Amino acid sequence: MEVTAGRFQLVTRDAGPFALEKLKGVGPKIATRLKERGIVDQLELLLYVPRKYRPIYRHFPGPELARRKSAYIECIGQITQVKSPGRHSRTPLEVSVDCQGQSFRLIWFNMNHRDFIARFKPGRWMHIEGGVDHDQQVPTLAHPNCKSLAEPPAVLPEPTVSIEPIYPSIEGINDALFAKAIAQAAEHLLPQLVEIVPAPVLARHGLSGVGRALRTIHLLDAYSDLDFFRAELQGAKDRLVFEEFYTLQLKMAEQYVSERRAARAPRCTERDLGRELVRRLPFALTGDQSAAIACIADDLARRTPMRRLLQGDVGSGKTIVALMAAAIAIGSGYQVALMAPTDILARQHCRRTQEFLADLPIAIDSLTGSQSAPERRAVLEALAAGATHLVIGTHALFQQDVRFKALGLVIIDEQHKFGVAQRDLLLQKGEDPHLLAMTATPIPRSLAHAVFGDLDLTVIGEKPPGRKPVRTLLRTRASAAKVYQYVRERIIETGEQAYFVYPMIEAGELETTRRNVLQAAEQLAQDAFADLRLAILHGRLDATTKDAVMQRFAQGEIDVLCATTVVEVGMDVQNATIMVIESPEVFGLSQLHQLRGRVGRGSQESMCILLSGELLTDDAHARLTAFGATDDGFLLAETDLRIRGPGQFLGMRQAGVAEFRFGDILRDSHLLEEARQDARRQILGDAAG
Ligand code: ADP
Ligand code: MG
Repeated sequence: MEVTAGRFQLVTRDAGPFALEKLKGVGPKIATRLKERGIVDQLELLLYVPRKYRPIYRHFPGPELARRKSAYIECIGQITQVKSPGRHSRTPLEVSVDCQGQSFRLIWFNMNHRDFIARFKPGRWMHIEGGVDHDQQVPTLAHPNCKSLAEPPAVLPEPTVSIEPIYPSIEGINDALFAKAIAQAAEHLLPQLVEIVPAPVLARHGLSGVGRALRTIHLLDAYSDLDFFRAELQGAKDRLVFEEFYTLQLKMAEQYVSERRAARAPRCTERDLGRELVRRLPFALTGDQSAAIACIADDLARRTPMRRLLQGDVGSGKTIVALMAAAIAIGSGYQVALMAPTDILARQHCRRTQEFLADLPIAIDSLTGSQSAPERRAVLEALAAGATHLVIGTHALFQQDVRFKALGLVIIDEQHKFGVAQRDLLLQKGEDPHLLAMTATPIPRSLAHAVFGDLDLTVIGEKPPGRKPVRTLLRTRASAAKVYQYVRERIIETGEQAYFVYPMIEAGELETTRRNVLQAAEQLAQDAFADLRLAILHGRLDATTKDAVMQRFAQGEIDVLCATTVVEVGMDVQNATIMVIESPEVFGLSQLHQLRGRVGRGSQESMCILLSGELLTDDAHARLTAFGATDDGFLLAETDLRIRGPGQFLGMRQAGVAEFRFGDILRDSHLLEEARQDARRQILGDAAG
């Protein structure tokens, strides 16, 4: 299921290789420098695009040149004054020139002053070329190129504008060399470029060929009208972005098809068990939940395996949707595996499911890493024999010795916590089983399409009714005592419960600013919360202890749960209404949102208090403020994506897929969407959307 973007590359009819050394002006030394920067051949060189473009104004009247903002100019002028400081002075050498009534100052640093005196004499005519700095009183050119003229020009040349590309600098290679090398590569390679995007698609979007776009980007044709060039350039850049997106989406569409080609998926059409489950629910399903279930039921009834991603903000009620899917598969005679990323979550699912499915003819088992050998053996046997219908577990599920009699559906909760390979290991335990992946990290749609282009997407947008937004407060450690006092009173008054979350288990050797759960909990127990029931939960506790703590917290036997981010995903205790996050500045936005999602799950008013350090970086400050300003997971995800970029946002596992050379998932989301639709149409035929 993994689709790796790799680096987008041009394709030519002739396979190459197109060695850099073949280019005039590129010797072994330059070639080595280019290769060090990843420009390994001429095709790569063509994709090395300018960092910016510089207009050069030539021979416009002096006053007009002086007005051009940060421009590069060429003009002819007469020297009016030469200021040469003493031999050893560090002040620059300075020359004033007059160009048709406009004065310019030319300056040089570290120049041999004897040569200088010889070259520049008042009254002499000069040909001058350089960049103008407007910050000075008199427009100033630092280190311009100057040539003396023997006599004043009879007529001044015509005014013209031209544009030059400026490439990201590589030591020892100037722009002129880039231009020369690229022009040669272009002449050789552009005529034999293979167009990946079919002509009708290009025509529909009014896009040029890739070769044409590259000519514009490298300025291989002259432009004299700046505005016209800018418009052309935008079109050319979009064209490259489209090419990049289209190439990836084509691969994804192919993947999509090949995964569904197997028409041997178990057809699950029996709905009675699901209906029975709905009847027992203590609440009515939301519209989005029902729609998601209908979609999934439809998929499950087909011979092509379902590959669906269910997205919904924290607390939107994805679990019940998953259980409905499970009920349909089990009712139809198949087994279901539900995989969760942590022991705690797997156990909670197990308990919850047992409540929901009580008295229904469904045999549930759990499989986690912390079971005893005999326990584990018993579960494995029941699974292999088909006696267990629904198995809920962690990574323990995809181990080699786990076998199913008839695995029909794989459900992965918090799928972003798993690698694609792990998902596939579990899928291989059945014959083309269906897959339902769930995520509570809402990923902006454009990104989801880029990364999960081979999955169908269902979004739960609404939350169950009656939920009040979580009030979020930003406080610093200076007010910690007040916050503790407030929390204590509220707990005593209402009988509600609180989470306190810390980034670390114990004090680190180097890290002194991050709060840790062991120390903090001890302090709270002795001091602010001495009369409350307090417990600690973190990943290093053994499974039985974790389980017991969870159980007691869920049953209201613990007032304050001091924990690490092990509570980040999935925990669902409706009576817990207070979330205090200590050292929140070390967490990313999405993670903070996940943590906050642990409260606000019932009908009471909930609150989330961030207790940050006193000194925050600008970045951290921006993040916490954005977090305080909204409760909308999709909005936060987009902000997070903007702040951190796709690679970091998605985490290491999926980073490669989201790294584009030219495209930007946020900025170019419309191009991504178009490329996706076109690529899918190309592969799947006209029916695909
Ligand atoms: P998440 O999408 O974060 O996994 P859960 O599935 O854990 O959310 O659901 C959050 C809580 O909302 C649970 O306690 C669940 O029982 C409850 N819930 C789910 N659907 C509804 C609904 N339609 N009406 C009321 N409560 C619901
Ligand atoms: Mg969940």
